[in-house]
Amino acid sequence: MQTQMLIGADLVAGTETEEQILNPRTGEVITILPEASLAQVEAAVQAAERAFAQWSRTTPAERSGYLLKIAERIEAAATELAALEALNCGKPGHLALNDELPAIIDCYRFFAGAVRVMQGPVAGEYLAGHTSMIRRDPVGVVASIAPWNYPLMMMAWKIAPAIAAGNTVVFKPSEQTPLTALFMARVFAEVLPEGVVNIVLGRGETVGSALINHPKVAMISLTGDIATGRKILEAANKTIKRTHLELGGKAPVILCDDADIAAAVEGLRAFGYYNAGQDCTAACRIYAQDGIYERFVADLAAAVSTIGYAQADDSLNEIGPLISPRQRDRVAAFVTRAKEQPHIEAVTGGAIPDGPGFFYQPTVLAGAVQTDEIVQREVFGPVVSVTRFSDVEQAVGWANDSDYGLASSVWTRDIGKGMQLAGRLRYGCTWVNTHFMLTNEMPHGGLKQSGYGKDMSLYALEDYSVVRHIMVAL
Ligand code: NAD
Repeated sequence: MQTQMLIGADLVAGTETEEQILNPRTGEVITILPEASLAQVEAAVQAAERAFAQWSRTTPAERSGYLLKIAERIEAAATELAALEALNCGKPGHLALNDELPAIIDCYRFFAGAVRVMQGPVAGEYLAGHTSMIRRDPVGVVASIAPWNYPLMMMAWKIAPAIAAGNTVVFKPSEQTPLTALFMARVFAEVLPEGVVNIVLGRGETVGSALINHPKVAMISLTGDIATGRKILEAANKTIKRTHLELGGKAPVILCDDADIAAAVEGLRAFGYYNAGQDCTAACRIYAQDGIYERFVADLAAAVSTIGYAQADDSLNEIGPLISPRQRDRVAAFVTRAKEQPHIEAVTGGAIPDGPGFFYQPTVLAGAVQTDEIVQREVFGPVVSVTRFSDVEQAVGWANDSDYGLASSVWTRDIGKGMQLAGRLRYGCTWVNTHFMLTNEMPHGGLKQSGYGKDMSLYALEDYSVVRHIMVAL
């Protein structure tokens, strides 16, 4: 197992506090990794800054070539990377390999192409006797900070557009899930020029904090919690750094009387629980209309009770455990508090199962009302609430009544109604008759306290570059 960080051209071990890396399926320690020292963080930022001078002047075609090589290396190592991601996160191995790895490889390939076809306004004489033109240039050294739910995919979403746009990066994976990032450290060391990507390990309050407060860091990119996002903004304030924030969600699902209920049950069984609900777009807050409410709750509970997890034969697993005992206990506490409400019923699940690992039963909580904590707060676990509504206006109001604004969906056979509702939902994405589906050509990002950074798509290239005006007196 590759356990060293990447600073400049060197693969080196951290020298500070050791962190246990756990296997969430068993609770066993996989390995122990020391975090970076402040001197190592400094060296990583300096390496990125030195590399920027050359890298920012490479052509899009040259950078594209590097990204394609990275994609090729990931493709060649897909089985090994999926196994490592499954080990560190507890994900079913077949899903890591068949769902995540292809999307990750495609992310590098997408940005390899996209950077060569960026477009902008027409150059011309907007002031008589002067020619104006627009450039899009890189920002500088980007500090990229990732969460634990999709470690390798978050790395791709952050690093691919940043380096495609000509920036250099110091990347910090979550202290809980560094193993695939460390595998990639060797790939980057072998493929890229020295210092273009650097990888440092450590906790948020030590290594993360040193990175985001570093005066030579021009931009901070975070996928994480709202509280962490606030700390990033405070740190950015000191030297006016650019920020790119993706901060969680509490996705509402509006299920109308005229929806295809069988399709909705099948979809929400998948999209509410994928990755054990540790997904910022998880379909976790369902509003079901009067006419179908009873049947839907019964059918969803029956379907969710068949979700495979904690099976010795991994091919039968559809979801894994939570990432840590802390996260599992947090999820359990949300459900316990919800069940204390007399109007809420756990129609399936609602407990920690027996056995090793940090598993939680896939859970449906029916009868929740808008003011309930379970409807308002992000759980980040395999827990879905269902709330009854009678009038679509009411459902739109409730769906929008959230601090979050990342993802949402509407289920109806009336496509005109679906389009109208989609237009009124204050979310970065609204799906109609599906949920959760992402594609590298389309942006992923939020409104409100979900943040404003856009991942994937040409919009990410815009986020990781600055618009400049060049004017020539003729
Ligand atoms: P987190 O905010 O605790 O940690 C995310 C990263 O930030 C980690 O690498 C952590 O070490 C670092 N960090 C923490 N404190 C820091 C500090 N003071 N300075 C610098 N870095 C610091 O979040 P998490 O628990 O790892 O991830 C779960 C959260 O991420 C959820 O809220 C989830 O919704 C959100 N998330 C959002 C998206 C999205 O696209 N919007 C995607 C995945 C996860």
